[in-house]
Order: sequence, then structure tokens, then C-alpha cells
Amino acid sequence: MHPSGPAAPIENRKLKIENSSVLSLADLATWSFDGTALAVLGHPIKHSVSPAMHNAALAEMAASDARFRSWSYFRFDVPPEDLPGALPLFHAKGFHGLNLTVPHKIIAFAEVSEIDPQAKLIGAVNTLRRTDSGWYGANTDGYGLAEGLREGLGLALKGAPVVLLGAGGAARGAAVECLQQRCAALWIGNRTVDKLAPLVSELKSAANGTPIHTFALDRPPRDFPARCIVINATSAGLRATDPIPIDLAALGTAAGVYDMIYNPPRTPLLQNAEARGIPVANGLSMLVYQGAKSLSLWTGCAQVPVATMRAAAERALGL
Ligand code: NAP
Repeated sequence: MHPSGPAAPIENRKLKIENSSVLSLADLATWSFDGTALAVLGHPIKHSVSPAMHNAALAEMAASDARFRSWSYFRFDVPPEDLPGALPLFHAKGFHGLNLTVPHKIIAFAEVSEIDPQAKLIGAVNTLRRTDSGWYGANTDGYGLAEGLREGLGLALKGAPVVLLGAGGAARGAAVECLQQRCAALWIGNRTVDKLAPLVSELKSAANGTPIHTFALDRPPRDFPARCIVINATSAGLRATDPIPIDLAALGTAAGVYDMIYNPPRTPLLQNAEARGIPVANGLSMLVYQGAKSLSLWTGCAQVPVATMRAAAERALGL
């Protein structure tokens, strides 16, 4: 239903807000919700904190703006092979906006009818907004990262040397953001070095003259400039047995280390950096700000309750 449509009864809204169950495409087939529906699609999706974050924000927004009383955010487990068929169905069922998480961000890129320029450079979307003819695709991860660096470390990408660890989807979004913000130079390191040359070639149109260097994570160069910003976009650190992705001794006097991982909240990389006296921050702020930007895109509100979203995410993560 259109956001300006009639509000659902409060009881209905509360029921949906408290409903954290994982829905499937079978539920979509019989879908009926008389409010404005948003959802995150992923596979798996059980552990996503996005429903908690967004429903907490919508409840707060509804207190001062009656339009949002009818809004609710759901979660759907959608296998990747079903996504191309599912997106038109979510549109037909009246969904106003969608978030996409692993493994859908690249698959959905090919399915949108309009695309935001930054998402086009990244080649992936994490946010869809309904249009009359289909879905408008955007990517808010880069914004989330830049805000996370600002809030967590007091650092700006503009003019800074950046050492980016990883060459997967998250690294690609981070690299585009670094280049668009005009970082001074970008070093990208990955475990599998074969992935680096194709990535750099795809980043050329975003680079606009900014130098991009590559390295193998286990053989970092010794000439990184002082005060570089280190961003971990590898998944090394998610499990207790994972190795630290880079030997921080190679980095000299880094200005800060930002780990996109937020669970666990202090990865061995962050612990190691802290022990060296380097300021650190984890990826919770990125998660919150990418969500805040998505919510702004859907609601048209420039200001959304970020502190409420963070508190809800922390609660959902048991932090
Ligand atoms: P992805 O596409 O699967 O890429 C994974 C990356 O991690 C690859 O570069 C991979 O290197 C590297 N890697 C995996 N295990 C490693 C190890 N043991 N040692 C060194 N490198 C290793 O995943 P993604 O979507 O980019 O996500 C990467 C991380 O960012 C995840 O931890 C994810 O949770 C996090 N993330 C956080 C946010 C947020 O909002 N905070 C948003 C997006 C992603 P190879 O190429 O060698 O396999």
C-alpha cells in the first residue's frame, strides 16, 4: 500500500512489529497487510537485526507522524534462485521498500528498473524503493561506512590514505565510497590475489585519477603512508578460529582501524590494534547508518532516529 494510504489499526501494527518470525515465499503468496510493508530478504535471514532496528525507528517516528503508524518491516527467507521471480511478486503485493542482504545484493542489481549512480558503480544494491514501473535500486553500505568512520573514529575518507582488506562485495562498496569521497590513495589487499586485478579494473571509472595499489594480505608492503585508515572488509574475525587478516606491524602509525564485523564486537584484529594504541571501531555503526539511509529513502525523512536504531540493534545482538 502507498505510504500515504490509511493507517492500519494500532493492534494490527503492534502485532506485526512484535512478529519477528521468518517468513517465506509461501507467506507472500497469501499476503495481506493493510499497512505499508517493508522487508529484508536474505538466505539465511534468521539472525538479521534489521527488523528490530527498523521497527523500533518506525514506532518512534509514528509517535510524531501518524503516517508511520501503518508501517511495518518484515523478514523473508528467499533462496537466491527464487529472487528474480520474487521481486515482481513483492511489487505486486504492494511492498513499499526492500533491503537485500547476503547473497542477494548482486543478483538484485540485474532486476531493478532504475539504479542509483553509486549502486551502478558498485554493481550491487542493498535497498529497493517501489516505483510505478518496478524497483529503484540503491546501495547505502558506502554511506554507512563513511558515517561509521566519522562517528566511531572521527575520521573522514576525503584526503586520507586508505588500506582496505578484502575483495568481496563489502570491499567493493567500500572501495567505491573511498574513491568517490576522494581518498588520497587506496591500497586493497586480499587473501586470493587473483581477485585483485579484475576488481581494480572495475574500479577504474570511479577512481578518477586516485592511485589504487594492491597486495597479498600475507605479504603487505612496508611503505604504507603514515596515518592511513585501515578498513577490514574480509570475513576473517567472524569465527574465533579465524586468522588476523593483516600483520599490523606493517601499518606503522595507522590513524584508525575499522572492522566491518560487529559480532563479535571486538575481533582479534581490533584487539591487536588497540594493544598498539591505534583507535578502533567495529561495524555496528555502519550497520546502523546503512539502515538509517534506507529508511530515509523509503520515508522521505532526512532525519530518522539513529540512536533508537542502534539501541534496538544492540538489544537484538545481545550486546
Ligand atoms: P564476501 O563477498 O564473501 O567476501 C569475503 C572476503 O573475506 C573475501 O575478500 C575473502 O577473501 C575474505 N576472507 C574470508 N575468509 C578469510 C580469511 N580467513 N582470511 C583472509 N581473508 C578472508 O563477503 P562480504 O559480503 O564482502 O562481507 C565481508 C565482511 O563484511 C563480512 O564479515 C560481513 O559480515 C561484513 N559486512 C558488514 C557490514 C556492516 O554493515 N557492518 C555490511 C556488509 C558486510 P578471498 O577472496 O580470499 O576468499
